[in-house]
Amino acid sequence: MDYPRITKGRGRLYESILDTIGDTPCVRVKTNVPDDVRLYVKAEFFNPASSVKDRLAISIIEEAEHDGLLKPGQTVIEATSGNTGVGLAMVCAAKGYPFVATMPTSVSIERRKLMRFLGAQVVLTPKADKAMGCYNKAVELAEANGWFLARQFETDANAKIHENTTAREILADFAGDRLDYWVTGYGTGGTFSGVAKVLRAERPETKIVLSEPANAQLIQSGHEQQRTADGSPAASHPAFEPHMIQGWTPDFIPSVLQESVDQKRFDLLVPIDGQQGINASKLLAQQEGIFTGVSGGSTFAVAQGIANQAEPGTVILCMLPDTGERYLSSPLFEGVGEDMDEAEIALSQSTPGFHLNE
Ligand code: PMP
Repeated sequence: MDYPRITKGRGRLYESILDTIGDTPCVRVKTNVPDDVRLYVKAEFFNPASSVKDRLAISIIEEAEHDGLLKPGQTVIEATSGNTGVGLAMVCAAKGYPFVATMPTSVSIERRKLMRFLGAQVVLTPKADKAMGCYNKAVELAEANGWFLARQFETDANAKIHENTTAREILADFAGDRLDYWVTGYGTGGTFSGVAKVLRAERPETKIVLSEPANAQLIQSGHEQQRTADGSPAASHPAFEPHMIQGWTPDFIPSVLQESVDQKRFDLLVPIDGQQGINASKLLAQQEGIFTGVSGGSTFAVAQGIANQAEPGTVILCMLPDTGERYLSSPLFEGVGEDMDEAEIALSQSTPGFHLNE
């Protein structure tokens, strides 16, 4: 950027916060990346409720409105590990629908509080019942009350919004430039399925890299997912183990993801250890000022691995799905204290003013 920095405004006024969803920036990261390789992150925390799932939330609600499946004032319900719930709570608040989320107790406290702050109700389900228990509770409540179930794991509105927005943004931002690798993980698989479909058609030279937790390699295992007639999971996947990458890899292969796996819309499948993801998230924060969660750190760690083996000139893009602020009570912030540590106390005492009386 030139000195001094001057900004011009967005050149438009917005009728609703919902119109600010998408068009997130791709930002270059240089730490631990060879000089002759360009690695960019697509920073989804620029969305108004700070995650990639804002895209899904607006898509589910507007597709349902368009198809007449959601009536004015009808309650919306969804099973969510958090970000979808926060996105839906925002969209429902802005559009006047009551929203109920079912969520396992394993998900971070701040996500519950955020949803409640946005006016939603949160129904907790036992950690032991995993994502499937949470999902079944949402189905049960929807049926009992005649509510609209968002069905993020099955709905066409999921991959569709990534085809129409995320992928289009990537095509536009890399028009006339190289894009050798695009790296993502999966939760529902919406980001992967939507973007991969468009890249395969419009940028066939771009290698698509899919990642999953090292201790929950559902795709790599080759085990087929059992499903009911409507595509929802009939049983927990045998390769699933609880892992540290919140928002990634539920205990089943969602049908939104399955089609793209069957079509082999990825070139590399790379496992990543959750702790490595946490380390990478800290590195991004402390050496680049980029504040993302564990899934962002994990995706970035995979992208860094590719960068370090890539030939000169290679261009890589990886997704950063959400903000690190959503993990204050989680292992990401372990060791980050509330009180002054020894070095900070020493610093405080090194000048005469304003000592805390211990
Ligand atoms: N990271 C986080 C933190 C998420 O909440 C999600 C969505 N569950 C993802 C990644 C994956 O996105 P998708 O559902 O589009 O696969």
